[in-house]
Amino acid sequence: MGKNLGYKSRESRKEIYKNKRSRARKKQVGRILFVGVIALFLIFISGSYFLVADEIHQGGWNKEELKEKKNETKNTDNQELNERKEEKDKTDEKKEQVNDEKEEVDAEKEADNKDEKSNQGDKNNKVVYLTFDDGPSRNVTEPILDILDEYDVKGTFFVLGRQVEYYPNITKRIHDEGHLVANHTYSHDYASLYDEGNMIAELKKTDEIIRDVLGKLPSNLIRFPGGSFGKKRELYRQEVKQNGYNFVDWNVVNGDGEGKNYSKEELVERVHETHNNQNHAVVLMHDSAAQQNTAKALPEIIEFYKEEGYSFKTLENFG
Ligand SMILES: [Zn+2]
Repeated sequence: MGKNLGYKSRESRKEIYKNKRSRARKKQVGRILFVGVIALFLIFISGSYFLVADEIHQGGWNKEELKEKKNETKNTDNQELNERKEEKDKTDEKKEQVNDEKEEVDAEKEADNKDEKSNQGDKNNKVVYLTFDDGPSRNVTEPILDILDEYDVKGTFFVLGRQVEYYPNITKRIHDEGHLVANHTYSHDYASLYDEGNMIAELKKTDEIIRDVLGKLPSNLIRFPGGSFGKKRELYRQEVKQNGYNFVDWNVVNGDGEGKNYSKEELVERVHETHNNQNHAVVLMHDSAAQQNTAKALPEIIEFYKEEGYSFKTLENFG
């Protein structure tokens, strides 16, 4: 009898233990569900944030904090994907960056879809900022300058110090014809800039080169090679600001950095695909020597923005 009771009580202890474990499992499932719901909520909140940030951004470009956060997400980085592909030595970290940047593209698309409504009905305020990176070069920058002159529109050239040393006269021409010359570092070399930490040194070196050529430094505006966004550039964003620079990314591309050797027609098409009717369109293009189709596509891109009612400005008063 005693044994039986003992046996039964062991059984019921087992039963209790089983129930406890089952409850623990249920709790664990509950916790996983809870975390999932929180994650969805955060995704929803961040989507709403982009919408708000963009509305403020359209109001004036002067909310630095928002601008920075916007820059983190609202950009594509096709140029740099391409340049990275060309590098012989692909490290794992670089592959990771490519993935990060694909996510940025998705985030941008999502944000743009959401802010489309807020952009509409404000046709008088539409501004397009044509930007040309990685030059100057003789065979692409000069035809681009001819086209801009023909259409009487102004653009912004994010030059490399290295290229300004090769082509001081073209750099002067950019400046003399009313376009903005801005700093895109000396080498554009990610290893030097971000791994070895030479970002500020390269910016300062390029400032000096521009100053020597133009007799002045037209702007404290810079563009990060690869864009400013993402956690991996957070320290550099801070450092750049602490050194008195402003930075700007882009929200439209012509795709000349996507590594696909697009035809003139395809470059125009990429602008149509990415422009999203934004009130402030910052168009990323390249005037490095390989980008001859960029010059060929430019007239149609300019005509497109004219037809859409945009005015053309340099990024001179940005920030
Ligand atoms: Zn670049």
